[in-house]
Amino acid sequence: MSGVKKSTAMTDDSKIENSASGGPETGRHICIVGGGIGGLTAALGFAQRGFHVEVFEQAPALTEVGAGLQITPNGGRVLNALGLDDALDRVSITAQAVQPMDALSGRAVTRFDLSQLDGPPYRFMHRADLIAVLEKACRALGVTIHLGSAVDSADLTADLVIGAEGIKSGTRAALNGDADPFFTGQVAWRAIVDAPNADPVAQIWMAPRRHVVTYPLPGGRVNIVAVQERAQWANEGWNHRDDAANLRQVFRDVSPPLMSLLSKVETVHLWGLFRHPVAQHWHKGRVAILGDAAHPTLPFLAQGANLAIEDAWVLAACCEHDIDAGLVQYQAERAPRVTRAIAAANANARKYHLSGIARTVAHTGLKIIGFVAPNAFLDRMDWLYDLDVTE
Ligand SMILES: Cc1cc2nc3c(=O)[nH]c(=O)nc-3n(C[C@H](O)[C@H](O)[C@H](O)COP(=O)(O)OP(=O)(O)OC[C@H]3O[C@@H](n4cnc5c(N)ncnc54)[C@H](O)[C@@H]3O)c2cc1C
Repeated sequence: MSGVKKSTAMTDDSKIENSASGGPETGRHICIVGGGIGGLTAALGFAQRGFHVEVFEQAPALTEVGAGLQITPNGGRVLNALGLDDALDRVSITAQAVQPMDALSGRAVTRFDLSQLDGPPYRFMHRADLIAVLEKACRALGVTIHLGSAVDSADLTADLVIGAEGIKSGTRAALNGDADPFFTGQVAWRAIVDAPNADPVAQIWMAPRRHVVTYPLPGGRVNIVAVQERAQWANEGWNHRDDAANLRQVFRDVSPPLMSLLSKVETVHLWGLFRHPVAQHWHKGRVAILGDAAHPTLPFLAQGANLAIEDAWVLAACCEHDIDAGLVQYQAERAPRVTRAIAAANANARKYHLSGIARTVAHTGLKIIGFVAPNAFLDRMDWLYDLDVTE
């Protein structure tokens, strides 16, 4: 069994030719390009089914951008089925509610109580903590992780090669040709600040043509993602630094509770939000893609990672006995769901950014719904949060 025919940018200690060997149970060998959330979840899913798994990650260490993550019950069911619930309990906060706020007045528009949700907790956590939990579980099952290994999936040979390289996936391009993303006219900042004793609530601070989402992270911190509509383009990557003064200038008219969080921001990153079509081809021969490689999503529904986690489980389950048939089933199961989730995320930005009379009407409507039908929001999200892909 061979792992890599040829690789690029590999460090000396990541020579992979020596480490590729047949799996102890099935004898089948999976190579995964990308050790992010989707790649590591897939590694675990396949390893638990007895496959021999190798992960190739370009970064010199398995870490993550400094940002929080909301893991909703649909993603949580997969992580629980992989046996990670206790580990996640130690590094996450259980969310109690989602609270749309008027960013200008500082008043809550309504409150959606998450305690009514079925299944695992809706969690707030740091991305790096989820990666650490996944990495530990992968290593315990004998998954080989090659760090500092930027590889091209075309250079790998295995029973199945999975492209989990995220938004700029070379494997997606190989299966589908170059994508044609377009700028949505929105940019986003992300930051983490110290703010002890924050309520376990995700707050969506809505203002005309802008919004901010805040939620607490373990260790007395608060995660901030702020979005502004603007014509000017910014890059798509997640690692471009900006001056915190620019963020505060855009939100200079918001109410004191939000301003006090923004005033604490020291390090901030800015990126442009682009829409990408869902890939038409998720597999070809013995090569497949998952997560952002197949379907990048805007961050307005907190589902990109959750969908990647679901993909990973479904791919491993479908391919357990018959990889060729499994790949067909995988795309058939996943494409309709992710297409629906992406459309819902796209629509949310418009709702958050209303101005004038439309804003007043929408906020009043939300208040009334929250009063007369407090579970209406969660009922509308059943299709998203209630799915159990592990069934
Ligand atoms: C600020 C922000 C907040 C978000 N909040 C949420 C949230 O609350 N909930 C949620 O569900 N989603 C959220 N998302 C979306 C989510 O983070 C992504 O959808 C998710 O990370 C996708 O996982 P992935 O494994 O497909 O790709 P990635 O996480 O991008 O991982 C890809 C990995 O592949 C590696 N790689 C790339 N090319 C190569 C190569 N050639 N060789 C080897 N390795 C390679 C990269 O280094 C990286 O480690 C958020 C996104 C952002 C930016």
